[in-house]
Amino acid sequence: MTKHTSDPGTPPWHGFDPDRAFAALGSSPSGLSTDEAEQRLQAHGPNRLPARRKTPPLLRLLAQFNNLLIYVLLAAAAITAALGDWVDTSVIVGVVVINAVIGFIQEGKAEKALDAIRQLLSHSAAVRRDGRRITLPAEQLVPGDVVFLQSGDKVPADLRLFSVKDLRIDEATLTGESVPVEKAVGSVAADAPIGDRSGMAYSGTLVTYGQGSGVVVATGQHTEIGRISAMLGQIEPLTTPLLQQIGRFSRWLTAAIGAVAAATFTYGVAVQGQAPREMFMAAVGLAVAAIPEGLPAIITITLAIGVQRMARRNAIIRRLPAVETLGSVTVICSDKTGTLTRNEMTVQAVATAEGLFEVTGTGYAPRGAFLLDGREMEPDAQPLLRALAQAALLCNDADLIQAEERWSLHGDPTEGALLALGMKAGLAPALLREELPRTDVIPFESEHRFMATLHHDHAGHGFVYLKGAPERVLDMCSRQRLHGEDMPLDPAYWAGVMDALAGRGQRLLALAFKAADAGQDSLRFSDVEQGLTLLGLVGISDPPREEAVAAVARCRAAGIRVKMITGDHAATARAIGVQMSIGDGRETLTGQDLEGLSDELLRRKAMQVDVFARASPEHKLRLVAALQAEGGVVAMTGDGVNDAPALKRANVGIAMGQKGTEVAKESAEMVLADDNFASIAHAVEEGRTVYDNIRKSLLFILPTNAGQALTIVAATAMGFMLPITPVQILWVNMVTAVTLALALAFEPAEPMVMRRPPRAPDEALLSPFLLWRLAFVSIILVAGTFGLFLWEWERGHEADIAYARTMAVNTLVMFEVFYLLTARYFTDSVLSVPGLTGNRYILLSIIAVLLLQLLFTYNGQMQQLFDTRPLGLRDWAWILLVSPSVFVLVELEKWLLRRAMRKGAARPNANPQSRL
Ligand code: ATP
Repeated sequence: MTKHTSDPGTPPWHGFDPDRAFAALGSSPSGLSTDEAEQRLQAHGPNRLPARRKTPPLLRLLAQFNNLLIYVLLAAAAITAALGDWVDTSVIVGVVVINAVIGFIQEGKAEKALDAIRQLLSHSAAVRRDGRRITLPAEQLVPGDVVFLQSGDKVPADLRLFSVKDLRIDEATLTGESVPVEKAVGSVAADAPIGDRSGMAYSGTLVTYGQGSGVVVATGQHTEIGRISAMLGQIEPLTTPLLQQIGRFSRWLTAAIGAVAAATFTYGVAVQGQAPREMFMAAVGLAVAAIPEGLPAIITITLAIGVQRMARRNAIIRRLPAVETLGSVTVICSDKTGTLTRNEMTVQAVATAEGLFEVTGTGYAPRGAFLLDGREMEPDAQPLLRALAQAALLCNDADLIQAEERWSLHGDPTEGALLALGMKAGLAPALLREELPRTDVIPFESEHRFMATLHHDHAGHGFVYLKGAPERVLDMCSRQRLHGEDMPLDPAYWAGVMDALAGRGQRLLALAFKAADAGQDSLRFSDVEQGLTLLGLVGISDPPREEAVAAVARCRAAGIRVKMITGDHAATARAIGVQMSIGDGRETLTGQDLEGLSDELLRRKAMQVDVFARASPEHKLRLVAALQAEGGVVAMTGDGVNDAPALKRANVGIAMGQKGTEVAKESAEMVLADDNFASIAHAVEEGRTVYDNIRKSLLFILPTNAGQALTIVAATAMGFMLPITPVQILWVNMVTAVTLALALAFEPAEPMVMRRPPRAPDEALLSPFLLWRLAFVSIILVAGTFGLFLWEWERGHEADIAYARTMAVNTLVMFEVFYLLTARYFTDSVLSVPGLTGNRYILLSIIAVLLLQLLFTYNGQMQQLFDTRPLGLRDWAWILLVSPSVFVLVELEKWLLRRAMRKGAARPNANPQSRL
C-alpha cells in the first residue's frame, strides 16, 4: 500500500469531520459562488497535471542520427574526407543533416497531431456553483467546490466526502488495489494509509457504484496523484504492431543490404580489379540506394493523418493500434439506444388496466393529447392516468427547460419523455416535487433495470414510486390499480400489452407504487422487492437514426456483421432490428437464453443471431469471447461502468463520448464524440484506408529503392561506371522522401474500400501480389534508367560521363513521378479525372520535385556539388518518352489483373480482392 506522502503542511482531511473540512476551506454544502471560484482559480491555477516531460528537442534531433544508414553515411563522409574529396564529403554531411532535420520535423508534426486529439478527451465534473448544479470542465475546479459523483465517473480532484450512497471507488491507479473500496463520511485516524481513508475520494480514481458528494480539498499537482506524479495511462507510445513489424523489417533489410554492399565491393575489387576507391563509393551508393530510410517516418505520418481524419468524423482514437485493428474488424456489436436510434424519446402509448391510451405530440414539448379508442380524453377525468403520470414525474431525475418555445432536456432521455408525459397530463413537476419531497432513491442501473424513490408529503405520509423494465417490475407487483382500487395482478393481460407495444418497436417501462411508513427515511432493495401495485405501462418511441441505417448497409457490403445488443425488451429489439435490417426479424436471444447456453452452443448462436435483448454487461463479455473464439475481430460499444470488461476484451472497445461514463472511456480504444453508429462505420473506412495507404507507400518506396540499387549492382556486375553517383542517389532519396513518397499518406479512401471483405489480421504486409508488383516496377525502372544511361553514353558523351549520369538521375525521378500517378490505386485504373487529380498533394509534390530537378540540373552551384550537366531539349524529349512507360505498363498490368479477377469472381467462393 502506498505510504502517506503528503507534506507536513497539508491537513489530514480524512481525519477531519466534513464540517471542519468545509470550515477550513471556506465553503459549505451549497458550494461556492462563481466569483469566489474564479478568484480561487486565479490563486490555485487550473486543475490539471503538469504536461508530461517531453524529450528536449535537441535530444530528439540527435536521436535522428541514431540509425544504421546514418552511420554508413558518416563513415563514407570520413573516408571521402580522408581521401581529400571535399565536395563529396560536404554533400554527404549536408544530406545527413537535412535528412535528420526533415525526420525531426515530420515526427514532431505527427506527435502534435496526436496530442491535439488526446486533448479532446478532457473530462467534466458535476459541481454546485451559486447553489445550482452545473457541469464544468474538470480543469476549472477549485478547492472548496462541491462535486457530485456517480457510478461511472472519474473523480476530478481530491475530495473530502460529506454524503455517500453505496459509494464504491476503484483506487487501483493510486493504491494498486483492484477491488473497489466502500466509502463513508466518517473520520479516520490522521495517519491512516491512503487505502484506508474512506472519507476521501482521490483524483483519477473511478467510481464503480453508487453516488456521493464531496468538497474539493486539492486540485492539479497538489492532489495525491499529482504528488506521486504517476501518469494516468493516457500517454501512449507512438507505436503500433504494424510500425514495429516495419521497424523489424527495415532493420533486417538494412543488414541484408550491408551484406550485399560488402559483397559488391569485394567482387568489384577482387574479381574485376576495379579501383577500391571507386568500388567503395559504389558500395556506399548501393547501401544508400537500397535502404528505405524514410519508411518509418512516412508510416507514422500516415497513421497520424488517419487518426486526425477519424477525429474529424467523430471517432477519437485513444490507442493508436486501434487504427490498424479497425481495418480488420469482422463483427460490430452495437448498443441500440442512442447509437442505432436517435435517443429522442417520446411516450406514444400508456396502458393501464382500464385501457390503452395513445399519446400524441413529438419531442419533449409537453403538448399533446390522450386518445382512447381514437377519441380524445380529458386527463383530469382519468385518475389512474394522473396517478401514473405522478409516478412518472416523481421517480425521475431529469429536467425539461423551456427557452423561447424550445424545450430542452437535462438528464436521461427516457426520463425526459416521462416528464413530457406528466406535463401533458396536466401536472407541474416543480410543484409536485415540492409537495412530495424525495427522501431517498435507488438509482437506475442497467444491471437491475429499475429506479425507485421514497417520498413524504407534508402530512408525513410516505410513498415509494418505482419504474423499470416491465418484466422486472411485474415480479415486484402483486396488485394492479383499477377504478380506484387495488386488484390482484393479471399477468396475462400485461403480457398481451407488452407484446403489442414492443411489437411496434417501442421501449417499455412499467410504473408502480407502494405506501411507506412515515418514519422510513431510507430505501433498500428489500423494501421494493415485493408488494407493489402496478399503475401501468408506457410505450416510448425512439426512431432509428437514418444515417445509422445507411451505415449498417455499408458495413454489410464491407463484409462486416452488425449485431445489436440491447437492454430493451426482445420484441422492441426485434422490431427496431427489422427497421434497420439487423437480424432476420425472427431470431433474437435474450440474456436469460444466453445464460442457459453452454460455451460451445453460445459460440454457434453468437455467430447466427444478430439481435440480443435484455442483455446485461456480463452477457456482452460472454458474447465477445464467443465471437472471438469463432475467429471474429470484434468491435463492441459500451457506456456503463460494467461494460468495461467487455470493452477491454473486444479487439476494438468503443465508448460513447456523450452518454458514456469515464470508466467506459478509460477502457475503450476509441470514443465516439457523437455516440452515433455511423461514426463507427466511418472509422472502419478510415482504418482500412490507413492500411491501404501504408501498403501504397511501401509499394511506392520499395521499388524505387530496389530500382536504384539494382542499377548499381547491374553496372558493377557488367563492369560499367556507376550510372548514378552516391551523392546523386542521396539527392534523389532526399527530394523524393519529402515530396512524392509523402503524398500517398494523404490519399483518400479508394471507392471500393467498403465493398471488400475485411483484411485477415494475420495477413502479411507484403502479399505475393505486392511482391510481384514490387519486382515488376523495379525491373522497369532499372531497364529504363540504365538503358538511357548507356544509350546517352554511347551516343557520344563517353568523354563526359557526368552528362549521362544527369540523364540517368532525371530519368529515375521522372519514372517515380509517373509511377506515383498510377500507385494511387492498387488495381483500379487511374485513367479518369478523379483518378488523376483526386489527391492534390500528389500534384503539388510533383510540381515541387520538378522544380527541384531543374535546380539540380541547371543551377551552377548544384552542378558543382552533384557534378551535373545542363540537359538539352532533345534529352528531355527522350526522358519523357521513356519514363511514362512505367505508367502504361502498370496500368496494363492492372487491366489484365482486373480481367482475371472478373473471371475469377464468376466462380463461386472466389474472393479476389482479399488476395491482394
Ligand atoms: P442499449 O440499447 O444502449 O443497451 P438500453 O437503454 O436499451 O441500452 P438500458 O439502459 O439498460 O438499456 O435499459 C434497459 C431497460 O431498463 C429499458 O428497456 C427500460 O425498461 C429500463 N430503463 C431504462 N432507463 C430507465 C430509467 N431511467 N429508469 C428506470 N428504468 C429504466
